[in-house]
Amino acid sequence: MTLRLYNTLTRRLEEFVPLAPPRVTLYTCGPTVWNYAHIGNFRTFIFEDLLRRYLEYAGHAVEHVMNLTDVDDRTIAAAAKAGVALVRHTAPFADAFFEDSRYLRLAPAHHYPRATDFVPQMVALVERLLERGVAYRGDDGSVYFAIDRFAGYGRLSHVERRDLKAGARVSSDEYDKADARDFVLWKAAKPEDEAVGAAWDAPFGRGRPGWHLECSAMAQCLLGETVDIHAGGVDLIFPHHEDEIAQSEVATGKPFVRYWLHAEFLQVGGTKMSKRYGNIVTARDLREDGWDPAAVRTLFCSTQYRKQLQLTDDALRAAAVGAARLAEFRARLAGAAPGAPQGALPVMAGRLEAGFRTAMDDDLDAPRALAALMDFVREANRELDERGGAAPADRDAALAVFERVAGVLQVVPEASVVVKLSVTGHGELQLSAPVLEGAGTVGPGPGSLPVVPPAPGEDLAAWAERLARIRFAARQAKDWVRADAARALLQGQGFEVRDTKEGVQVLPRRKAPG
Ligand SMILES: [Zn+2]
Repeated sequence: MTLRLYNTLTRRLEEFVPLAPPRVTLYTCGPTVWNYAHIGNFRTFIFEDLLRRYLEYAGHAVEHVMNLTDVDDRTIAAAAKAGVALVRHTAPFADAFFEDSRYLRLAPAHHYPRATDFVPQMVALVERLLERGVAYRGDDGSVYFAIDRFAGYGRLSHVERRDLKAGARVSSDEYDKADARDFVLWKAAKPEDEAVGAAWDAPFGRGRPGWHLECSAMAQCLLGETVDIHAGGVDLIFPHHEDEIAQSEVATGKPFVRYWLHAEFLQVGGTKMSKRYGNIVTARDLREDGWDPAAVRTLFCSTQYRKQLQLTDDALRAAAVGAARLAEFRARLAGAAPGAPQGALPVMAGRLEAGFRTAMDDDLDAPRALAALMDFVREANRELDERGGAAPADRDAALAVFERVAGVLQVVPEASVVVKLSVTGHGELQLSAPVLEGAGTVGPGPGSLPVVPPAPGEDLAAWAERLARIRFAARQAKDWVRADAARALLQGQGFEVRDTKEGVQVLPRRKAPG
């Protein structure tokens, strides 16, 4: 079994072989923190999370860097408009990004470099490019990269060499292929930059880094001269990634990136999606509209990353039903009393894992991987039905496979949804906002702790005590759904539950004789 990934650089599916196994270096272009990240950005980030989690599942030791662009044309313009210093404008959006990332269950990167913390390294990179004779100072005082002095320019984005306007310059961070010109490495400071504190001294003149330069410097600093995988959205292929290659490869004389991976766009279409905005724009809109992150991830899994993804209200609703089914199954399997003789579950679990790997090895075919998981749940539910709900003796091994696969895809809702389903038994279509409240935002207080069956191997007494505290807090808050759910789970594990003024008593039920 080998993982094959589509490399934008070669336009082919290639077997993935890391440079220095088991280490895999992964650089992903992060958000520009001038505003809230768009849900289209999160489509890319979720694809990258899937990639990262699957590499880890497959035994690689991934080192993941995601940068925060906190100085560029947009951040400076936004800070100037707000009349505040750059850092004061970007800090809350950086915080919001981390909050949104937690909501959408993105595994935290190992490093989140902010461009403004790496200015000396960027200055050093520009100096090297000047020494190599590929950079020059324009008459506007800015430093530019001369694209005709790098033979590989255009290889990633397939800009035809005859379309290059060498000698002509482009000084904005974003431009399209029609403007394939000498691009800016270092922008001479303007009064607007000084006003928001976005200017630094450099031997070649006071100014600030160009956006493309930032990623080259940070990737090299944190991951070395050659990175295994660099990922982003398709909109970054040109000019951002093309320019990153040019700067990095001229500076080091080595290949910058071995595998370039790009996620397609997300389209927001169909029916009206948000009461508040008329359309969903940011991750927080989804959260405020009460969508469980597992539903979002289920929907995103249903389209392979190189295809355009349609985000509609109906699609989200369908994904939520699918995700809820997974949660219901997990609760059922985990809560089923073990002891029945071995059944077909291990075979089914083996088939799940094999199907999952085959699908994911094929350029992260998440739709097929998700289908394998859904098939397993259907088959296993049938098996449990046939056994009157009793789990076979080797239930834990099957549960572990389920958790491994679900852990990569992140498609199973937390806590509250499970509760609703296990209590009412008809919760599928009741995924309303109040039920989802608290899901995925596990805090320290009992009010936000997940109401879930004990995990395999978890200390039952500690679990019961926690559930009792949750029930007490929920009763005090008159959150009857949550209180009932906690009691049902406790009873399901054989405990007797008594409510008193002081709290909730949990008594072990006497075992039936024999
Ligand atoms: Zn970048």
